[in-house]
Amino acid sequence: RHQPQNDVPVAMRYRACQRMYRENVGVFGSHIHGLGLFCLQEIDSGDMVIEYAGTVIRSTLTDYRERFYESRGIGCYMFRIDSDEVVDATMSGNMARFINHSCEPNCYSKVVAVDGQKKIMIFALRRIVPGEELTYDYKFPIEEAKIPCKCGSARCRKTLN
Ligand SMILES: [Zn+2]
Repeated sequence: RHQPQNDVPVAMRYRACQRMYRENVGVFGSHIHGLGLFCLQEIDSGDMVIEYAGTVIRSTLTDYRERFYESRGIGCYMFRIDSDEVVDATMSGNMARFINHSCEPNCYSKVVAVDGQKKIMIFALRRIVPGEELTYDYKFPIEEAKIPCKCGSARCRKTLN
């Protein structure tokens, strides 16, 4: 699995990632927040680590769904693709929904097209070794009501938004 992946077509990389991710990452308690996603086997810089899996919904549906989940006491997990679409991982997600934010992350997210479908994929920014927590920058829009950041990095921006 340590062959360079950059020349491999994205659909092939995606299918390999779907087969492999459960061996490479796992969910454990985090010092940043709640549960987090951790490296189990060495991950190379540039590797496609895991899909942020879920159901692609129109942005106009997010408020309705958030209120519904809240009324049932269900923790809501959503990831914005662009101004029109959001991935809702609340009921159909995978381990990727546990990836915490960091102001100095070791992963990044990128939307890729696989067989004509938009997928949010998490890639490694650098080599990651077993035991490290995987993080990416949530890039939340700036808002009045601040969510404090506890990522612990030297360059922490102190809030997520
Ligand atoms: Zn931070």
